[in-house]
Amino acid sequence: MGVSDGEVAVALDVGGTGMKCALVSADGVVRHAERHPTDAGRGPDAVVETILAVAEGLAGKARADGLTPNALGIVVPGVVDEARGVAVWSANVGFRDVPLRDLAFTRLGLPTALGHDVRAGGLAEARLGAGRDGGHVLFVAIGTGIAAAHVVAGSAATGAHGAAGELGHILVRPDGPACGCGRPGCLEAIASASAVARRYAELVGAASDGGSAQAPAPGRTMVTAADVAARAAAGEQVATRVWREAVEALADGLATGQALFDVETIVLGGGLAQAGAGLFDPLRAALRDRLTFHREPRLVPAVLGDEAGCLGAALLALDQMETP
Ligand SMILES: [Zn+2]
Repeated sequence: MGVSDGEVAVALDVGGTGMKCALVSADGVVRHAERHPTDAGRGPDAVVETILAVAEGLAGKARADGLTPNALGIVVPGVVDEARGVAVWSANVGFRDVPLRDLAFTRLGLPTALGHDVRAGGLAEARLGAGRDGGHVLFVAIGTGIAAAHVVAGSAATGAHGAAGELGHILVRPDGPACGCGRPGCLEAIASASAVARRYAELVGAASDGGSAQAPAPGRTMVTAADVAARAAAGEQVATRVWREAVEALADGLATGQALFDVETIVLGGGLAQAGAGLFDPLRAALRDRLTFHREPRLVPAVLGDEAGCLGAALLALDQMETP
């Protein structure tokens, strides 16, 4: 063990709107947590400066509390070259080839790991959360988009170009709606939380001249995926249809994932996974229908919530201390 009792990792999970930050000890215990706005609209240089300032502040807080900050872990969205420590591309933070690991090391003098937010979240769920009893884990985060992390022996595969795990862009419906990536029919164009909400709004709009569903009144906020799940559970016709379409598409995506990875556990995270039995019961059945000789994985909800990415950042930081 390269890590002793009072030592902590400084961990930052940088998102498009906010940063989740923590001091985490080697056993995965959060000793201190704080959150900051990202304000991505200020541009990438300003965001990098905020990341470095927040990390410095956390290291100072650790020392003030009698702890020793011994490593730094930063995770960001998009395409991340973990080996080179470069944030290659991120739509919602505006990064283009930012050598974040070297910048952080220069500023703080701490060994620094740079990782990908969803892969880090999957790492945390696999080692500390819902997947900790299963060696091979596929973590699937379903939110605005859909992304995944394949974790084996406590580490998440990055791919050759830092872009592994893009499960959301598996083609499931060749004639389906356009995806943000430019191609029609991707999984996330049908089964992400935003796709579910959008599809429901479309159908309700189309059905408002005679359908049974109620369109939101002008000025009301759009119905969310969670609302669609609740309305489907209550038996509402349009919601039931949209929800079933999403579940079927998800089952197709997960069946492909299982064919590729043969995992023991699939952990579903992100907002949509909070739909509980309304999601997991039909999804388990639909996935089972699609498996032939493949072994059925355990399908479970994530347990670490939106702290998973930050905990994963800490694990990446601590892991590099363990490496001789
Ligand atoms: Zn796509």
